[in-house]
Amino acid sequence: MFQFWKKEGWSQLGLSMKALLALLFLLIGLIPMGILGAVQNRAFRRTQIDGRVIEVQNQCLITSDRLTRADYMGAARGDALVGRELDTVADIFNGRIVVVDRNFRIVKDTFNLSEGKINVSEPVLKCFQGEHGILREDEKQYFAVTEPIYDSTPERNIVGVLLTIASTENILSNVSSVGQSTRLFVVIAFVVMAMSGIVLSFLIVKPFDHLQVALDRMADGNLDESISENIYKETRNISEAVQKTKAKLQTVDKSREEFVANVSHELKTPITSIRVLADSLMSTEDAPAELYREFMTDISEEIDRESKIIDDLLAMVKMDKAAAELNITQVDINTLVQQILKRLTPIAQKRNIELVYESIREVTAEVDEMKLSLAISNLVENAVKYNVENGWVRVTLDADHQCFYIRVADSGIGIPEDKQENVFERFYRVDKARSRETGGTGLGLAITKNVVLMHYGSIRLVSKEGEGSVFTVRIPLTYIV
Ligand code: ADP
Repeated sequence: MFQFWKKEGWSQLGLSMKALLALLFLLIGLIPMGILGAVQNRAFRRTQIDGRVIEVQNQCLITSDRLTRADYMGAARGDALVGRELDTVADIFNGRIVVVDRNFRIVKDTFNLSEGKINVSEPVLKCFQGEHGILREDEKQYFAVTEPIYDSTPERNIVGVLLTIASTENILSNVSSVGQSTRLFVVIAFVVMAMSGIVLSFLIVKPFDHLQVALDRMADGNLDESISENIYKETRNISEAVQKTKAKLQTVDKSREEFVANVSHELKTPITSIRVLADSLMSTEDAPAELYREFMTDISEEIDRESKIIDDLLAMVKMDKAAAELNITQVDINTLVQQILKRLTPIAQKRNIELVYESIREVTAEVDEMKLSLAISNLVENAVKYNVENGWVRVTLDADHQCFYIRVADSGIGIPEDKQENVFERFYRVDKARSRETGGTGLGLAITKNVVLMHYGSIRLVSKEGEGSVFTVRIPLTYIV
């Protein structure tokens, strides 16, 4: 049951908020009105009948008093004048009056149906015992009132009973006509409420409709669309959330465009150089063999450069899409760093740069060996590339109980403070010419940062122009997803 509500049920129906609101308004309006109508109808019926009973009771009291005074049960028994008076009274309240004597014989019946007959009904018996009162038969639409008739002695003995029977039919038809007007009122109210419910629900839902339209336009690719529906707090929150998402999308879009532009530019540069070199060779008639050799060496360098850019790009694309595809194993980080340094020693030696490795403790960590090796290589390579002749590069490995730290410090050219944030961006180079000379692609640090983040680590740069740079990588010893 709960499951139905939660998943397959209501959420699948796609209920309309407008219809629900309209229904809600209608129910909230109609249910109390219906209850009120029914209660009022009942109360009206009751007070009407009560009023009639009291009226008849009073009349009964007056009449029994009149009969006592006229000694209707004694000397003036069956007196025609008094009998006519009784007929008149019975007509006035549209009822029937029956007078019963001590022997339960009916002395007078205004309907002339049972005179001389015996009446031993319960109200009459009770009245002779002094318990006069009312018998109500609401279902049968009548009530009976009994009143004792006394003799004229000072003891006031009960000598007869005045039984008055009155109908409530008229009252009930009054009540039902009132009920009919109530029903008519309810129907009119239903129509009015249904209409106002529909109008109100449309008005309430309108801001959401506006949001929907704006979102649809955005979905069609119109990202410049501004969404601000501030009528409700809820719509304002949605608008703000959408604006934020939109801003993010725009940033992603922009950086993608920039990336594509950069990639094409980077790929084109070596090709343009190759074309210029080849064209100038071709246009030089009888070019000497040395010139050929020199140009061909340049062309070969440009081809190397192009291939390096493509390699770096491929590495980065792989990294981007395969965040989850890390091949995590227990790796001896000391050995890993030593291997990197060994591989880079010949390059360092070319410029007489001293490569120093300082391992403060043995470190084994859960990392992707290939990717981490690439990241650290980039840092050490840069430290050599952007160094001065006869400089030094110091790599330090340390760890605490949670993370290990690799610090790559150099005595190189350093990075100006205002550029330090940018060096991790793709294709960013502080000095384009120098980077070109050293065969840089501007992708190395971007790749390194990516790898570090994939390991839930961080990278920090401290550098001073002309004095050198220090890159510190911090990576958790255990890889926790
Ligand atoms: P590149 O392939 O050009 O070296 P990187 O992404 O590795 O690209 O580095 C980006 C830029 O940051 C480099 O072009 C260089 O200007 C600067 N840089 C990187 N490492 C160092 C360093 N150790 N010393 C000075 N500058 C550096």
